[in-house]
Amino acid sequence: MSARVIDGKRVAEALRGEVAARVAALETRHGVKPGLAVVLVGEDPASKVYVANKARQTVEAGMRSFEHKLPATTSEGGLLSLVARLNADDAVDGILVQLPLPSGLDATRVIEAIDPAKDVDGLHPMNAGRLMAGIPALVPCTPLGCQKLIRSALGDLTGLEAVVVGRSILVGKPVAQLLTADNATVTLAHSRTRDLASVCRRADILVAAVGKPLMIRGDFIKKGAVVIDVGINRVPAPELGEGRTRLVGDVAYEEAAATASAITPVPGGVGPMTIACLLSNTVDAAMRRRGLSVKA
Ligand code: NDP
Repeated sequence: MSARVIDGKRVAEALRGEVAARVAALETRHGVKPGLAVVLVGEDPASKVYVANKARQTVEAGMRSFEHKLPATTSEGGLLSLVARLNADDAVDGILVQLPLPSGLDATRVIEAIDPAKDVDGLHPMNAGRLMAGIPALVPCTPLGCQKLIRSALGDLTGLEAVVVGRSILVGKPVAQLLTADNATVTLAHSRTRDLASVCRRADILVAAVGKPLMIRGDFIKKGAVVIDVGINRVPAPELGEGRTRLVGDVAYEEAAATASAITPVPGGVGPMTIACLLSNTVDAAMRRRGLSVKA
């Protein structure tokens, strides 16, 4: 194996340190303590873990955390009125409604109800449009984490070929926008892309955000490419014991690492960056709402 491992835990820890320093400065200079409200509807076990981690890390960074747990039977009207209250609450700088929502609740309508200035998940159409237009915006956390990892591995991306596999509004499309803004030449591939392997072999930067375990094989990788694996897939792991499972990415790690120059592991790559970027977005939102400038 030749590739360097891109350590998302380490980069995320450094980012959390930066966030904590910005929070402390904001409090000292302006008397502002940023607040993040996280809304969890229902009992999805994975969502409960994510929300608990977000709340803990928010407090560790010196910010206020407001948790709102609603039953799965909550009506859309009930959820929308909570969002309206959080929009109006000056102690709340960021609002995150944990997805997926239980069936019967329309995530698009709920996201559109969030004040774009507090939309720290970056999913409101206003923020998606601002990202597209190159105007400062709240950017979705996982794509922002990918950009930071790629910059940490490569520095300047000008002129590099990037291929992003997956075109979701949550990951693939914003990653493509961010890399375009960083002057890479970006191809956005998806399930209808012809000869995906040869498209991927063009990539100096390959981002896999598909949700299919190990589908990006070693022969998809250009020699020396930087590979970012966003996928989180739980697969059976009989080698660990009966009924056991493990997490794998969308990239066949060992095969890809033989050709790539740097690669993110799963777990421990993109995953840890997501919450760190959420914290960073919350500080950005707190500053912009008060007319304070945020460095790009
Ligand atoms: P979606 O299911 O919304 O999108 C998947 C994308 O992959 C689609 O654009 C789809 O194409 C494309 N795709 C599916 N099959 C193929 C194929 N055979 N060849 C090429 N493209 C294909 O997933 P998300 O974007 O939400 O998530 C992607 C992965 O990232 C998942 O594993 C998810 O768990 C993980 N994830 C990780 C996060 C983290 O913090 N690390 C956060 C968010 C997601 P089409 O549009 O044509 O259907």
